[in-house]
Amino acid sequence: MNKRLSNMFFALFIALSLLPAQTWATGYTGTKYPIVLVHGLFGFDNIGPVEYFYGIPAALRADGAQVFVTQVSAANSTEVRGEQLLAQVKQILAVTGASKVNLIGHSHGSPTSRYVASVRPDLVASVTSVGGVNKGSKFADFLLGVAPPGTYSNAAIVSLTNGASKLISFLSGQPKLPQNAAMAAASLSTPGSLKFNAAHPDGVPTSACGEGAYNVNGIAYYSWSGAQQATNLLDASDPILVLTSLAFNGEPNDGLVGTCSSHLGQVIRDNYAMNHLDEVNQLIGLVNIFETNPVTLYRQHANRLKNSGL
Ligand code: CA
Repeated sequence: MNKRLSNMFFALFIALSLLPAQTWATGYTGTKYPIVLVHGLFGFDNIGPVEYFYGIPAALRADGAQVFVTQVSAANSTEVRGEQLLAQVKQILAVTGASKVNLIGHSHGSPTSRYVASVRPDLVASVTSVGGVNKGSKFADFLLGVAPPGTYSNAAIVSLTNGASKLISFLSGQPKLPQNAAMAAASLSTPGSLKFNAAHPDGVPTSACGEGAYNVNGIAYYSWSGAQQATNLLDASDPILVLTSLAFNGEPNDGLVGTCSSHLGQVIRDNYAMNHLDEVNQLIGLVNIFETNPVTLYRQHANRLKNSGL
């Protein structure tokens, strides 16, 4: 190869290596609309280096997705959290120039996302529920049952929960987000969820444990969830989820959400060998090594959205 040609190749190599990483990516996760991740109860965007959706944003970005991690009140009603999310969705649309977003919500993040899709369907391409509290959590029912509002034990739980939520907000750099544990518990209970669903029914199954409508108002609805509690001997949160699962009286659940409650729109799968925290790759990647990695599920889903023109 003559010197001039090799210099040209070298210059070309430098030029290509200066291009953004996305240009090199396969495009496997390259959705048309930005992906917006929405956390659950006691959630946050990140506390220091620890993300709520642990390792998931980077894995989605690696092959082309634009990903935004939102932060709403750690503990509050679905409607309050939904309004906070709507404001952030509008900011994301303004920054990216996109016309819609793909919302992916974990736990309380699912009804929070559904609220935005319900009040502003023009801004949403899809809603995906991961371990979503779509028809309430028997654990919230249990808490409200043993500690009804007005009792001393309820006041103690509310006070503890508000304190924890304020601490989470402070640590994650959003100390001003309003926290209201009593409203969160009411929203996550079965009666509270059914009341919310009556006003915002899109994608929610009308049968007890079937699928919901795949598409409502031009918005695609999907869900998946785990149905196991203890999945990794090294994860200190597993015994807690084994305990909370007792509130479900043998009904399949992921430790905090019943399998049927997790259904929304197209049910991709509802019995992964994952617990409620595994669904967001917690604690810090300690998940079931005999099950598909949760990060892989998010990547596969981004590809599913992409192939659906979303
Ligand atoms: Ca885990």
